[in-house]
Amino acid sequence: MRGAVIHAPGDIRFETLDAPELLHPTDAIIRTAVTCVCGSDLWPYRGAEPIGDPHPMGHEYVGFVEEVGSEVTSVRPGQFVVGSFATSDNTCPNCRNGFQSNCLNREFMSTCQAEYVRIPNAQGTLVATDGVPGEESWPGLLAVSDVMGTGWWAADAAEVKPGSTAVVVGDGAVGLCAVIAAKEMGAERIIAMSRHEPRQKLAVEFGATDIVTTRGEEGVAQIKELTGGIGADSVLECVGTPEAMRQALHSARPGGTIGFVGVPHEVAIDGQELFFSHVGLRGGPAPVRRYLPDLINRVLTGAINPGKVFDLTLPLEQVAEGYQAMDERRAIKTLLKP
Ligand SMILES: [Zn+2]
Repeated sequence: MRGAVIHAPGDIRFETLDAPELLHPTDAIIRTAVTCVCGSDLWPYRGAEPIGDPHPMGHEYVGFVEEVGSEVTSVRPGQFVVGSFATSDNTCPNCRNGFQSNCLNREFMSTCQAEYVRIPNAQGTLVATDGVPGEESWPGLLAVSDVMGTGWWAADAAEVKPGSTAVVVGDGAVGLCAVIAAKEMGAERIIAMSRHEPRQKLAVEFGATDIVTTRGEEGVAQIKELTGGIGADSVLECVGTPEAMRQALHSARPGGTIGFVGVPHEVAIDGQELFFSHVGLRGGPAPVRRYLPDLINRVLTGAINPGKVFDLTLPLEQVAEGYQAMDERRAIKTLLKP
């Protein structure tokens, strides 16, 4: 089979690889229906994360079950399944508390930009749909496996409530999905921070009521102006840079909450500043598994359409171009079809 391998910053190759096999009785093998490139894949691609030896890439997937290990009874060959970038047994104490992305048996997915994928912890990780959904819903279900699940977690962690005001920092796929989540959770005012017109349009389509195009202290001043001078109830930080975190901290009102879901890179928070701000912080890798049944249902009933974040579709063999287009911001998110 074939899949994407990163060799060095900017060097993604589509190569012949060994087909995955069941390694544990808790594994499943799926045939990829669609996969994609994540904003977080750009960290190593841009040289911001060490790469080491060449290795496969990708952690987002929906597909058809090919084979299951002897301990997997919840899904069977032929079924269409949605999973998460973090696998989980869904039975350990952390899973039972709803933090499946911190499962005691967690394994992160990292080989999904390929024709076939081994899924560890398949019993707890995979959710089968009722029959095979129409191909038009595959992008939305794929989004659920990572960016939509993460956007949902951002809104959940930031405690978005009906009638509240939410600020979304970041206009990548996760930020745009965070707008969807804030809207679904009933935020009355959703302020999206974006400087890119196509992304602003999508944010508005997803439910943003205001767009702030400035950043830094100017951006903060604009947020304050829109929120009665005090800042927002909830801030959804979907980037992971020091600038974005500063933006988030200064955009939340005293007593407000930040959900931070951008993987932090060199982010440091001043303890005294946090103390005196009265702002609550919660973040981390999204417990996507907790949200899967609900989000799958919202996609299949048409309540949400997060598949719209994919504005470039390529055959899987052109995965390198998919990375380049996102790196150069020509695409928000690349869908890859085997
Ligand atoms: Zn667990």
